[in-house]
Amino acid sequence: MSLEYYFDAESSDRKSFIVPGAKPHYNPDRPGQVEHIFLDLILEIPKESFSGTCTITINPIRDGLTNLTLDAVNLHIHTVQVDEITQNFDYDGEYLEIYLSQPTTIGKAIKVAINYGVEKPQRGLYFILPSEHYPHKPTQVWTQGEDEDSRYWFPCFDYPGQLTTSEIRVQVSQPLTVVSNGELISTEALASGESIFHWSQKQVHPTYLMTLAVGDFAEIQDEWRGRPVNYYVEKDRVADGKRSMGKTPKMMEFLSQKFGYDYPFPKYAQVCVDDFIFGGMENTSTTLLTDRCLIDERAAIDNRSTESLVVHELCHQWFGDLVVIKHWAHAWVKEGMASYSEVFWTDFEYGKDDAAYYLLNEARSYLAEDSSRYRRPIVTHIYREAIELYDRHIYEKGACVYHMIRTELGDDLFWKAINIFLRDHAHQTVETIDLIRAIEKASGRNLMFLFDQYVFRGGHPDYKVAYSWDNDSKLAKITVTQTQGKPDKTVTENELFDLKIPLGFGYSSEESKTFTVRIHEKEQSFYFPLEKKPDFISFDQGNNYLKTVNLDYALPELKAQLRHDPDPISRIYAAQALAKKGGLEAVKALAEALKEDKFWAVRFEVAQELGKVKLDQSGSALIAGLQDPEARVRRSVVDALGKVKDRPSLQAVEQLLATGDPSYYVEAAAARVLGSLVSATLKDQEVQVIQLLNQVLQERSGWNEVVRAGAIAGLAQLKTSVAALDSIVQYIPLGVPQPLRLAAIRALGAISKGQTPPEVERILALLADLAKETFFLTQLSVVAALGQMETPKAIAVLQSLATQTPDGRVRRVAEEAIAQVQGHIGADKAVKQIREELEEMKKENQQLKSRLENLEAKSKD
Ligand SMILES: [Zn+2]
Repeated sequence: MSLEYYFDAESSDRKSFIVPGAKPHYNPDRPGQVEHIFLDLILEIPKESFSGTCTITINPIRDGLTNLTLDAVNLHIHTVQVDEITQNFDYDGEYLEIYLSQPTTIGKAIKVAINYGVEKPQRGLYFILPSEHYPHKPTQVWTQGEDEDSRYWFPCFDYPGQLTTSEIRVQVSQPLTVVSNGELISTEALASGESIFHWSQKQVHPTYLMTLAVGDFAEIQDEWRGRPVNYYVEKDRVADGKRSMGKTPKMMEFLSQKFGYDYPFPKYAQVCVDDFIFGGMENTSTTLLTDRCLIDERAAIDNRSTESLVVHELCHQWFGDLVVIKHWAHAWVKEGMASYSEVFWTDFEYGKDDAAYYLLNEARSYLAEDSSRYRRPIVTHIYREAIELYDRHIYEKGACVYHMIRTELGDDLFWKAINIFLRDHAHQTVETIDLIRAIEKASGRNLMFLFDQYVFRGGHPDYKVAYSWDNDSKLAKITVTQTQGKPDKTVTENELFDLKIPLGFGYSSEESKTFTVRIHEKEQSFYFPLEKKPDFISFDQGNNYLKTVNLDYALPELKAQLRHDPDPISRIYAAQALAKKGGLEAVKALAEALKEDKFWAVRFEVAQELGKVKLDQSGSALIAGLQDPEARVRRSVVDALGKVKDRPSLQAVEQLLATGDPSYYVEAAAARVLGSLVSATLKDQEVQVIQLLNQVLQERSGWNEVVRAGAIAGLAQLKTSVAALDSIVQYIPLGVPQPLRLAAIRALGAISKGQTPPEVERILALLADLAKETFFLTQLSVVAALGQMETPKAIAVLQSLATQTPDGRVRRVAEEAIAQVQGHIGADKAVKQIREELEEMKKENQQLKSRLENLEAKSKD
């Protein structure tokens, strides 16, 4: 699964992952082995309903079982039969308890047939239809099972420990097409104008990977080694579909070779669906993707996320679908590898520098979550809902863990271990220990130390590295301190990491010298005899270990590193350290790198650093950087100019936005940044900037509304302006294209901060109203907006959202947003406010009671 959307916490204090209501979760006891699931369904799309029969063949594990309990939420259960004999059952809306008239016998499989129906399902299966406000929305039906939502569309033993073959037969009206797992074994057109599609999946898989996608799709046919590879998109998106998914066969070949295991299913389909609640979902042989990933020609200039999404879901066909996790606690085994596939695909397709930078950004996603949300072990079975586990720890930190395993083993042994892991567990379930054992089997290496430090406990090392040179004795001294984010050396023994880290002494004109040292104490100093003074020092040469570094080197070493270190990540660290030092000389070195560095990502990062140094020279270096040939660098330069906040920056960004840029993202950044430039010191330009942003809103509708959403974000920075608020509010009503509307909803939070109390009330009323909409992405946007507000009244709206939403993710982020608002207004004030509200309610309660008593007294008279 791939998340497209995640919560940006603003608060800097780390909270506990374990929230009230969290408890240990175990797989249930097994009554037997499920051998086959057959769904035979008739969809009535206009009514948002379906009905039919779910037949489960189960081979009992014990004699004498007299009942079976299935997961089944909010279904209408009509009848239950076992081997065609009607059975008694109880159903409470959550579990279906079947009382077997004939107790089970080992080895004698039984066929349980449940006839049922569903209307307007809340989860699991989603109906997409044109509506009054969105008359051009396509008609589609799609499912999302992971993690425990298949039970909302068919009765089943809904946990990943049960693998079974499956078969889905679905009747829909023409001209709709049905795509599902495995092979299409028949289609039938009925005289009534209906069609029946019959799909069969012959390799075992868990219920959460069973899927159904229905729509009036264009089928784009491709192939890999003679096997069908199809892309399904709405009929007006064929060119975008080819552009976005066209590398799939190449990726299938690449992964088949890397893993030493051929793509395991008879076909591969990717279906792009509307309003999808994730980025993508790796249903067995049939991945569903959000249609937001479809890129047009202009987006293709600098959009790489679609390609990453495609390889991520494809990688799951091995990691997740061929080898299935036994319990959600081990979801990192598949999500970490799928996220890591984005890295090694980038290496293959774009080179090792791009891959190193991709990995750095994965690490950063995790580091941000670790510092602002919570720290947890990657593997844990203590949670409230399994969906809470789908965070930056299992994805990005998981990818970093795979990379460290590869670093420890070397390429050959790593891929051998992965191959053994896949071969030994194909079509079976696994836990983390199985990976550790496969590594040992392939290489003889016991990597428990790595798993213990990075997987089974939370955190990572934060290193401070100091260097000095003694010219008389020709000794380099390196002092490494493990700070773990605590500047005052309060790190405890059990927070320390014990790793062997390579140190490189680099020279601009010759090979570097490398020494590997064991770093395991709070502070260690190492002395290295060298023939001559090194130009720069590469700590963790290759940057393979997940960590943070703070380089305490002198200016000349940092400048030399930025210029000469062959590792782009080390150059980025040098740029960060230089910016921290500040001063004209640092700016000159950064300005040179922005112009000269041959790798775009270094220029991207250098621009960010220049934005942090408050000197006129950084502004002029950045303005020159607007000419960079790489769109991603220009985007970064524009962002950085937003921090410089002087008149030339404003003029340069304004000019860029007015004339336009080949990239949507650069234009969006320019629009976003204009707001923050004006709000700081250039108030006299406010009217003009609002006018320009409004013009962008009127004229630059386009791909995924990226540019217009940037303009909305720009307006949101004009916190005291009612005119800016009025502009944003125009894009809130239903009927506004969804991505633009979501941006406008989120913007209400930022702009609320400088508004007068009546305007804040207006914003609150809008958000309270929007909170009633049930669409997942709307709810997330409402939460994001409320979380930025500075009034206790936002808490009340969040509270009701948290208690009413059926979605665990929304509940979790709403609760976190409450803590955020409390942080903004101070907990004391919040307590006081809630007390007052409680008092108010008590009074009302009292009044109601006395009214009731009066009435009762009267009625007795
Ligand atoms: Zn995934």
